[in-house]
Parts: sequence; C-alpha cells; structure tokens
Amino acid sequence: MIEHAVVIAGGGPTGLMLAGELALAGIDAAIVERRATQELAGPRAGGLSARTIEVFDQRGIADRFLAEGQVAQIAGFAWTRLDISDFPTRHNYGLALWQKHIERILAGWVAELAAPIYREREVTGFAQDDMGVDVHLSDGQSLRAQYLVGCDGGRSIIRKTAGIDFPGWDPTMSSLLAEVETTEEPPLGIHRTPFGIHSFGRKNYEIRDGEVVYIHEGPVRIMVPEERPGSTTEPTLRHLSEALIAVCGTDYGVHSPTWISRFTDMSRQAAAYRKGRILLAGDAAHVHSPIGGQGLNTGVQDAVNLGWKLAQVVKGISPESLLDTYHAERHPVAARVLRNTMAQVALHRPGEHTKAARDIVAELLQMDEPRKRFAAMMSGLGIHYDLGEGHPLLGRRMPDLDLVTSDGPLRVFTLLHKARPVLVNLAEPGGFDIAPWADRVRFLDAEYAGMWELPAIGAVPAPAAVLIRPDGYVAWVGDLTEPGLAGALTTWFGPPAAA
Ligand SMILES: Cc1cc2nc3c(=O)[nH]c(=O)nc-3n(C[C@H](O)[C@H](O)[C@H](O)COP(=O)(O)OP(=O)(O)OC[C@H]3O[C@@H](n4cnc5c(N)ncnc54)[C@H](O)[C@@H]3O)c2cc1C
Repeated sequence: MIEHAVVIAGGGPTGLMLAGELALAGIDAAIVERRATQELAGPRAGGLSARTIEVFDQRGIADRFLAEGQVAQIAGFAWTRLDISDFPTRHNYGLALWQKHIERILAGWVAELAAPIYREREVTGFAQDDMGVDVHLSDGQSLRAQYLVGCDGGRSIIRKTAGIDFPGWDPTMSSLLAEVETTEEPPLGIHRTPFGIHSFGRKNYEIRDGEVVYIHEGPVRIMVPEERPGSTTEPTLRHLSEALIAVCGTDYGVHSPTWISRFTDMSRQAAAYRKGRILLAGDAAHVHSPIGGQGLNTGVQDAVNLGWKLAQVVKGISPESLLDTYHAERHPVAARVLRNTMAQVALHRPGEHTKAARDIVAELLQMDEPRKRFAAMMSGLGIHYDLGEGHPLLGRRMPDLDLVTSDGPLRVFTLLHKARPVLVNLAEPGGFDIAPWADRVRFLDAEYAGMWELPAIGAVPAPAAVLIRPDGYVAWVGDLTEPGLAGALTTWFGPPAAA
C-alpha cells in the first residue's frame, strides 16, 4: 500500500492550498482528485478578498493572481459596495478572477512544490485506527496516511463517513446559472422583480473604473431565480426556459448551453472540524449562499490555519491537541460567514418591507464606523482569533510592515514565504535566548519607526516584540524579557530542544 503522511481528499482551492502549505513544511502530502484538470463546469467564485491576497503574498505568490485578475473594490454587504481603499494594507482592494484561474494558478504552485495529485479517481471511504487511516479509492487501490483531510466540497464523503453532523438550514431560495446562446438580445445587467434578482451578462467583460462593462458579443450568462427551492435533480435547458418565462415572460430563445448549474442559500456547518485522524476544511466544513463571495476565501484560509499545525503534529514537534485550535479558531469564522450570508439573503428578498430594511442598512453602511467594521468582516482583514486578553495585535493578522534590519530593508510578509514562525524583536537586541527553538523559529532584530495600524481598529501601541505564526497571525506580543514568551513558544511551536 502506498503511504503518505497526509492524504487530502479533493483538489479544489482548499485542497490545493493545504497541499502547498504541507509541502512547504516538508510533509509528504498527496491529493486525490476526481477531476482530470482544474476546469470547472460553471464559473463559481469570481474573486479573491483582500485577506486572501495577503495570504498569497505571505507565500510570495500574490503576483501570479494579480497579473491575471482585475483589481477592484469588490467587498460589499447586501448590495452596498464597501470601499477599503483607506485600509492599512498593501492590498486595499479585492481581485476579480474566475475560480478556474485561481485553481489553475494554485495547481501550478503545488506542482512546483512537487506535491503529488492522484487524478481521475475518488476517495470512496476510509477506515481509521490508532496509528493511521486506510483511504479507499475508486480504482480499487488504498492509500495509508497518518491523517486524512476532507477538502471534498459540500457533499463531502469524508464528513459523512466520519459521521460528523452538518447542522444548519435548508434552502429558502434557489437560482439557476447558465451560459447559453439566445435568439433575442436580453437586457444586460441586474434586475429586481417580485420573483427576486435576475441578471444577464456577457461571458466577456472588462472592469472599467470599478464597473463591469460587457463586451457585446459571445455567449450570454444568466442568473434567474427558481420558483421552488430544494430541487435535487440536475438543472436542464427546460428548467432554465421555464424559470425565465416565469420571471421575464420570455426565455429569449435560449439554446446551446455551455453549462447550467444551480446555487441555493443552504447554510450548514460541520459540528466538529476534527474527529481523530480525520479533518475537514473548506466547503466540506461549511456551505452557505455565495452572496458576498466568501466561500473560496474561507476555504483557502482554513487550509492556511490547518497546514502548519498538521505539519508540526506529523513531525512530532507538537501534541495532537494543537489540532484542536484549528476548530477553535476556524469554526467561529465560518459561523460568522453563515450568519452574514443569511442576513444578506434576507435583505435581498423581494417586497417593499425588505427594500426599506435594505435601504436602512445601506444608509448605515455609508457611515464611516459601520463601513469599516463590515468591510473588515467581508474582506477577511478583521479576523480575530481568540488568543486571550492582551495587546490588540494578539490573534490578529500581522501587518506587512517595511522593517529595517542589519541586512537592509525587509517586508514582514517576505519573512513568511517559507511558512515558518518568526520572532521579531523591535526593541534593544538581546534579552532572550532563542537557541532551544532555533530549529523551528526564526529570530530577527529589526526596527520600525512608522505607525502600527489595524483595519477598522486604527492605531495600536507599537510592540517591543511579536511572535508571528506561519499563517501570519500574531501569537504573542511583549518584551523579550517577559516570562510568557517561553510559554507561548512552547504552546505554538513545541517544547524547547534539549541543550
Ligand atoms: C455560483 C457560485 C458563486 C460563488 N462565488 C464565490 C465568490 O465570489 N467568492 C468565494 O470566495 N466563493 C464563491 N463561491 C464558493 C466557492 O466556489 C466554494 O466555496 C469553493 O469552491 C470551495 O472550495 P473547496 O476546495 O472547499 O471545495 P470544491 O471547490 O467543492 O472542491 C472540492 C473538490 O473535491 C473533489 N471531490 C469531491 N468529492 C471527491 C472524492 N470523493 N474524491 C476525490 N475528489 C473529490 C471535487 O472534484 C472538487 O475538485 C461560489 C460558489 C458558487 C456555487
């Protein structure tokens, strides 16, 4: 039986990111993926949030995405655009880029890191014991792994086989998405009717001054609500035609579909992100309405939270309990995503009462403080892991500052390219012996004279020293002489090595 330290079921955005993170940490991780390539039937995600761009920047790969997408103020809440151009980050914007391109770029990075992908086969089941997991594949083979991570999407067989509950809410709405030819020209743009929102666009478009400008040729992309949510059959051209006639009175002569798909606002979240040697990430752990564009972004960031922790446990540096911090930190993040998507779906319902509520929310979001708070939530820049009381940086993303070091200027995110933790001392050199952790944690004396500012929070006191985790979140803030530092290093990066 072929052995890997970690098997990842599913090579969508989450599985690819996790494979990259584990490979960077030197872990033998393999993906099992049903699809032959990263091509997708349908568009799915249309972009990256500011925090996901930062996460890619932390690994030195943000430029690959920025070179192919279009920078725009894409963060929004319930139809109100949230401008983040005043946020203290190098990436004070989102990026419009279709999911298939995001996946292709990620797959290229994973290939460079030489993480294997078993393609055109499925994980059909598994059996876990005290020492590992036998992962059964559709071609009759089995793989042996220490851990199995289900990144296999909303219908996750890993979650179901592990018997992990997926509580939540059934769909209250359902819409068809399609790319088709038409015999009549439909009215391009977004329309609101008593049935809900429908839209017509061209496959080919540009973003000019932050606005979508369609190129007037090529196939038409349609979004149209269905009368009844909850259908489990595959959508067809007939379903599309019927939905269009119900909403628009005509189907514009739709024919020759390239693809037809359906999305709903079903909102469910795994009760546990870990059961023994089985872990869940991405859509396997949480599904919700695509409104606000948060699914892919949340999945990629799940992977970045989990990767370094799983690597340390596999290497024997940290106890298995470190994996429990993955659920503790990421479950609340996706719970908030479910909550904000459910609120946005409610605010999108047809009717004058809902319109009044939507208008009032829009008015609130014109005010600076609510705008900043919601923009921090929707862009992912406001994520705060509860690591206890302390400095405002604790549990928040480390800003990408321009440090001055004895070797010259250095950006903080450059320090994270290899996904290793860093202890940055910004006070006088000396005062702490890093030697017992030097094999795992990089130590750096640096200077920074500028303001310390966090999105939606504003200026915070300059710290004397910060311990930055591989995922870019601050694990400890203080002075190198404080006794808590050795404890924080042990908690996050394992006990000191024997002298
Ligand atoms: C219409 C629509 C619009 C969206 N817009 C946005 C957006 O703008 N922004 C955003 O962030 N998100 C958006 N999303 C959500 C986003 O598409 C998902 O959250 C994202 O794809 C989740 O990534 P994932 O890797 O967790 O799961 P998936 O992308 O579902 O990947 C799972 C992978 O596992 C494979 N697989 C499944 N079962 C098995 C098995 N048993 N064995 C082997 N392989 C298996 C699948 O082939 C697939 O490649 C949108 C979704 C929809 C439907």
